[in-house]
Amino acid sequence: MQAVVYRGVDDLRVETVPVPRIGAGDLLVRVAACGVCPTDIKKIHHGTVTPPRIFGHETSGTIVKLGARVRGFRVGERVALHHHIPCLDCHACRHRAFAQCPQYKRTGVTAGFEPAGGGYAQYVCVMSFCLPGVVKIPAKNTFIEGAMLEPVNTVLKAVNRLAVLPGDFVLVAGQGPIGLLFTRLLALRGVKVIVTDLLDQRLNFARSSGTAHALRADAADLPEQIQRFTRGRGLDAAVIAVPADAALKQAVALLRGGGQTLLFAHTKRGAVSPVDLSGICVDEKDLIGSYSADATLQKNVARLVFSRRLDVRELVTHTFPLTETAAAVALAANPQPDSLKIVVQQEGFDTARAGLTPAALRAKS
Ligand SMILES: [Zn+2]
Ligand SMILES: [Zn+2]
Repeated sequence: MQAVVYRGVDDLRVETVPVPRIGAGDLLVRVAACGVCPTDIKKIHHGTVTPPRIFGHETSGTIVKLGARVRGFRVGERVALHHHIPCLDCHACRHRAFAQCPQYKRTGVTAGFEPAGGGYAQYVCVMSFCLPGVVKIPAKNTFIEGAMLEPVNTVLKAVNRLAVLPGDFVLVAGQGPIGLLFTRLLALRGVKVIVTDLLDQRLNFARSSGTAHALRADAADLPEQIQRFTRGRGLDAAVIAVPADAALKQAVALLRGGGQTLLFAHTKRGAVSPVDLSGICVDEKDLIGSYSADATLQKNVARLVFSRRLDVRELVTHTFPLTETAAAVALAANPQPDSLKIVVQQEGFDTARAGLTPAALRAKS
């Protein structure tokens, strides 16, 4: 089969590799779509893991083979995959810190080599311990919607960490695909969302999907604008969906006492930033983080996405064939004004997609 193999820093090669062999408890899935995720981009760009690997973990496709002991699935079913599944039994899991569970840290979907997701290949093996994360895609929904379950899950998990009430003011700094998902999920909770970004197209997109306050992150009077909008009360919470320390500092300053700042994009080990600790102690402002997904939310996530209460289709602006995965990764790493979520797609191109094409996005701005 064809696969895109990571061979070193910024080195992705289209190669012919064996179709993965499956064990008695595993599934073989023909990949239809796989989203390009910033966490993979970082690994490819900084070489933080050893090659060779086949990345891609926001994967959907069709079951083509079942291990002899597998029950509850059929060949031909369209499914969305989850590459990390917690054991639900260890100390971390009992504290619901699923992303810290030793089993969760094992990657259970692979197209060969050291398991790394495998979505940038024609076929993947879903290992038995990841079967609880396999979700069937309803007939009316697309493979791309299936591939979006994983990123939506990570955002829903993070939103659940915020103690926000309807009518609260929440800032989402950064309106890339993840920031836009935050904006929409928070809006579904009745929160008044204020968004910032440096790209006007993204601000326009946020406005067109119902955000009243989309502000340029570099506006000199940004703090005043936010204070005015919150009627001097300050922000109830802030989500930092860009790895920008200035955004963090500004958000903490604009928070009301007892408010929360959530870091979602600060994944670089060793990064430090000065924080006024009295803000945390005296003003009781929480600084929290969220990483990866929560498998126990998967049913909620599937309902949100497949019912299109959260319509993810319009976030996908570009699709690339498997052989052009390197170009897909390059575009996701260097977002253009007209690009949001990038997907490597092999199957299931559907004209029913009401999505926002690059041309449509240009027309909106
Ligand atoms: Zn991801
Ligand atoms: Zn566990």
